[in-house]
Amino acid sequence: MTSFHVRPLVASLVTFALAASAFGQGGRASQSQPTIPPLPIPSMERYREAAGRIIGAALVDSAAYDRLAYLSDRIGHRLSGSPQLEQAVDWAVAEMRKDGLDNVRKERVMVPHWVRGEESAELLEPVRRPIVMLGVGNSVGTPPEGITADVVVVRNFAELETLGEQVRGKIVLYNVPFTTYGETVQYRGSGASRAAKYGAAAVLVRSVGPVSLRTPHTGALGYTEGVPKIPAAAVTIEDAETMARMQGRGERIRVQLKMGARMLPDAESANVIAELRGTERPDEIVLVGGHLDSWDVGTGSVDDGGGCVATWHAVRLLKRLGLTPRRTIRVVLWTNEENGGRGAEAYAKDHAAEIRNHVLAIESDGGVFKPRGFGLTANDRARATAKGIAALLEAIEANRIGDNGIQADTAPLIRQGVPGMGLDVDGTHYFDIHHTPADTMDKIDRHELALCVATLAVMAYVVADLPERLGQ
Ligand SMILES: [Zn+2]
Repeated sequence: MTSFHVRPLVASLVTFALAASAFGQGGRASQSQPTIPPLPIPSMERYREAAGRIIGAALVDSAAYDRLAYLSDRIGHRLSGSPQLEQAVDWAVAEMRKDGLDNVRKERVMVPHWVRGEESAELLEPVRRPIVMLGVGNSVGTPPEGITADVVVVRNFAELETLGEQVRGKIVLYNVPFTTYGETVQYRGSGASRAAKYGAAAVLVRSVGPVSLRTPHTGALGYTEGVPKIPAAAVTIEDAETMARMQGRGERIRVQLKMGARMLPDAESANVIAELRGTERPDEIVLVGGHLDSWDVGTGSVDDGGGCVATWHAVRLLKRLGLTPRRTIRVVLWTNEENGGRGAEAYAKDHAAEIRNHVLAIESDGGVFKPRGFGLTANDRARATAKGIAALLEAIEANRIGDNGIQADTAPLIRQGVPGMGLDVDGTHYFDIHHTPADTMDKIDRHELALCVATLAVMAYVVADLPERLGQ
């Protein structure tokens, strides 16, 4: 496939306006402070030939796609503590060695080990019918006979607060339509403890996603200390809406929830590291990476197998083309992003002594759809340079530099002052399948994946090769 998906201009502007206001940038011009003119964007013409070679080579290379297909089809989903995650770790190490990358290694990380166990939910009244569900990660289980209780449907936390003690002994269903991920995911993340405060027996959470083909979305919860831990399960939009209509008609809703979920002792896992060592300043690092763990449904092809493979193959491509930059480019495939963040924590801790040597940290954890560019968290000088580099990606329409470069696994580095970038892709359909059994290889477009590899490779290469350090 060679055709690009050109986004309509209007859609781009709307998205940009939303992104700008989301990060508090909108309206800045209308304030009375004098406007500081932006720094001039430096020309990167001397890298045009290299960028062209990178893009051309990425588009005819099938290695990234083939490896992601292997990871998906043969190893499958990779929850922390599972043998598949450790199989993926060992496989990545072996393949990176075959690629001839430098310093390929595992760095040990202890990770939480949550297991789902057998689980089911059944509507008992007003009609008997199975409910499609997925336990929420980190949830406690139910007693073996399950929890059978009346269901109370609420549309938001305010309705829960109004009901207060009236939910005691009941199952609270949060039927909250998807707005943004950040807003809606709170119900999955903290809904159990908020309902438990009023004595609820369990919670059901409408899946966090904009559309559904009766696909339940899992994800992590966190329990509030001092509040009883109650089980939580995600249900589909269809089933949540059905129960909301039943409540609307004044019908009694009774559900039986059975979950065998439990937390086992921490398990051993590892971050996977590989490098393309720099020629002149090998101690300075441009980091690229994604997270190798996934939820225990689907095959984690989009979240975040694609990000792992794209960042790794960006470096592999540079190696193959003989493009060795002045600084080192380091690939990190983090473990345990989904239900703990221990991989990111361990990396920041184990590499504390060299954090100041991290010139830039680039993460890809938003899918490997058609790339638009990068979000960036850094100073104005770095932003001007990044825009100059992004101009080299104009031909593939991946030249946008947005405002927010913080993603989950690079966050601990960015908090310590490392400039951060996140690969920005057309995420229109990302949350349709996020954390569902439908996150599988068929959702990956070969050409879009290749464009992500090219985009990551051009940015990482130029930042790593520039005579001056990014932002200085
Ligand atoms: Zn992810």
